[in-house]
Amino acid sequence: GPAVVIIGAGIVGCALADELTGRGWTDVTVLEQGPLFETGGSSSHAPGLVFQTNPSRTMARLARYTVEKFSELGCFSAVGSLEVATTPARLAELHRRFGYGQSWGVPSSVLDPDACFSLFPLLDKSLITGGLYVPSDGLASAVRAASSQAERATSRGARFVGNSEVVAITSQGGRVTGVVTADDRYKADMVVSCAGFWGPAIGAMAGVPIPLLPMAHQYVRSTPAGAADTLPILRHQDRDLYFRAHGDRLGVGSYLHDPMPVDLADLPGDAHPSKLPFTPDAFKTSWSAAGELIPALRGATLEDAFNGVFSFTADGFPLLGESAALRGFWTAEAVWVTHSAGAAKAVAEWMVDGRPAIDLHECDLNRFDAAQLAPDYVRKRSIRSFIEVYDIIHPADPPSVRNVRVSPFHPRQVELGAVFGEAAGWERPLWYASNPAPDAPRPRDEWSSRHFSPIAETEARLTRRRVALYDMTPLTRIEVTGPVSFLAGLVAGNIDRKVGSVVYTFLLDAAGGVRSDITVARLAENRWQVGGNGPLDVDWLRRHATPGVSVRDVTGGTCGVGLWGPAARELVAPLTDVDVSAEAFKYFQCRLGHIGTVPVTMLRLSYVGELGWEIYTEAQYGLRLWDTLWEAGREHQLIAAGRVAFDSLRLEKGYRSWGRDMTAEDDPYQAGLLPPGDREPDRRLTCLILADTGDVPLGREPVYAGGFPVGHVTSAAYGWSVGAPIAYAWLPSALSEPGTQVEIGYFDRLLLATVAAEPLFDPKHERLRR
Ligand code: FAD
Repeated sequence: GPAVVIIGAGIVGCALADELTGRGWTDVTVLEQGPLFETGGSSSHAPGLVFQTNPSRTMARLARYTVEKFSELGCFSAVGSLEVATTPARLAELHRRFGYGQSWGVPSSVLDPDACFSLFPLLDKSLITGGLYVPSDGLASAVRAASSQAERATSRGARFVGNSEVVAITSQGGRVTGVVTADDRYKADMVVSCAGFWGPAIGAMAGVPIPLLPMAHQYVRSTPAGAADTLPILRHQDRDLYFRAHGDRLGVGSYLHDPMPVDLADLPGDAHPSKLPFTPDAFKTSWSAAGELIPALRGATLEDAFNGVFSFTADGFPLLGESAALRGFWTAEAVWVTHSAGAAKAVAEWMVDGRPAIDLHECDLNRFDAAQLAPDYVRKRSIRSFIEVYDIIHPADPPSVRNVRVSPFHPRQVELGAVFGEAAGWERPLWYASNPAPDAPRPRDEWSSRHFSPIAETEARLTRRRVALYDMTPLTRIEVTGPVSFLAGLVAGNIDRKVGSVVYTFLLDAAGGVRSDITVARLAENRWQVGGNGPLDVDWLRRHATPGVSVRDVTGGTCGVGLWGPAARELVAPLTDVDVSAEAFKYFQCRLGHIGTVPVTMLRLSYVGELGWEIYTEAQYGLRLWDTLWEAGREHQLIAAGRVAFDSLRLEKGYRSWGRDMTAEDDPYQAGLLPPGDREPDRRLTCLILADTGDVPLGREPVYAGGFPVGHVTSAAYGWSVGAPIAYAWLPSALSEPGTQVEIGYFDRLLLATVAAEPLFDPKHERLRR
């Protein structure tokens, strides 16, 4: 194998050395600035609580693998975990977390206060309303896990060098060539930074921004408090606290204090750089909250206490993968002990096989827009991640930093009373307050009513009945120029079509997984506009670019609308020099021309399943484009419509959303993107219609058949043209036949659902083609 240098012998670096050497790559050198294996990094001080349940399937699986591996190595004690609720909202959240466990294969149960008390007899039972118990969770011995993985790696040929600080990274022609320490040089084909919260310093040596923030977090150990090592680990999220036993003492960790960002220059210069002096004042509230839940602590004092440093990121996910800026430079950082072995396995697979076995797009180092790499953004958002670490987060809750990216239509949207959500830094209208609500809106449960308005029903219905304007600016647009062979080699279908045609296709990875779904519009013989799903698509195309090919992300410099609905043609025809007649401009075609004075690229596509166009122009013409369409739209009752209506309409038409409905783990046949032909996929993305009870799932809920979990929901929405909630779910093929009855777990309820033939609305796509 190639020569690999790993920077850092914390739990992640050691796990990676083990995973790489286990795959036959034995030329592995691990350089550690501290002593081996109590290096003084975060792993040396982590109390090692492992909670596997997570809204993210990927994170849950990284944790599950870590538990399995550490158990085999004898470094894990499966004492179980208990998360207690002291409020009705928290109890509801625990039911939802139970659902994630069912969806991702981490069994758990929701217990009443008595059952919680018998598991953890130190609790004040009168405070709690219930708990979530996960028997397979427990405690990892971080340093032992690090050293035993390192030992195995060493037996296979890896070298660990302690007291050896990396001070520079060398590169040539955009590729890494090695690292430099105080007294040595190491050649390397690949360098992996596993430097934990020192990541940004290593990144700076390589010219690679590492968007994480080191933060201190308080951890204490009590004097004897009647604990025992058999106690499950415990979380009291309503007060931002967690607990574990250390013999008869209790360890208490807190996120209740004010965030404490740490400057790397201020670390203590001793053997424990990640251990900062304890700040007792900051701990006062935490200690009294701990004593409320666990009365035995009221008689105890602190025996050991410190402020320990580890990494936070803007979105709470780790930073894994190879840098787009420097080839051969990889990171595995902002990884908890909980996910350490799983993350190391995934990165090792990625390095050795060219792709990880599970979808890592949420964790990809290259997932950020340039603005999201700004130090100010990373700092503000990471501080927010700390504050919200145990909060009840709704999937549509917008982040703390707003208005990072706005489309040129933003002022008009504000005038129309747009209520904005956020995606990848973009402000996106969810609905417009200037549109009327229906007279008798459908009743809807509280959780799915958040970031929702009945106005969306009006917007959806008027899109089907008249015509509506959607902001498509946040959709990633990439301009590709060069020979057709470049794109043709990366996608599933044939894109070598005539100028003026558009193809919907997929970027496939080496194993045939769907990296992205894209539209490819041929604007000229050697020029394409690719509509994709974010920075990872740009990165993917650039990585594969051959000489003579140019790949340019034009998203921010351009803007666009979807003008969709039966009246779209009447509206646009008088405004444009493009022949928009059904004969001249067919579905899946594109044309260059003008709308009024605005030069435009028109793509005859629709995510909502209606006649119409995506219309793009340069950002400078954006307002003029909006105003021209808006003015002409008056006589057609044009409305502006938002994301909530959009999502409903797209699900009625069965259009998949990459990242939610499918990822690189799924092939296009399983995902229902291509007809399976003779193949019989083992599982399928399946359309479900729910009983219309007022409950509308949001995604990630478990699906049951005969009482057993058999799959999970990806996307869901109320379908107003259908008159019922719609959900898409991954199910075994045997259960994907129309008419099959299943149940969806939603809080403590089971929602009846029936598999339906798709798409539910206009299955012959007649409305699109007229
Ligand atoms: P580290 O262990 O910090 O290892 C990075 C290594 O890189 C260090 O040894 C460092 O010396 C070395 N290094 C840095 N720069 C250089 C250089 N220039 N040259 C050579 N070597 C270098 N996680 C959980 O899952 N559960 C918990 O309960 C938990 N509780 C925590 C409580 C506290 C108080 C703290 C501090 C952390 C806790 N964590 C917990 C988080 C967890 O400890 C970390 O996320 C994890 O240990 C990070 O592992 P790592 O290998 O990435 O980093």
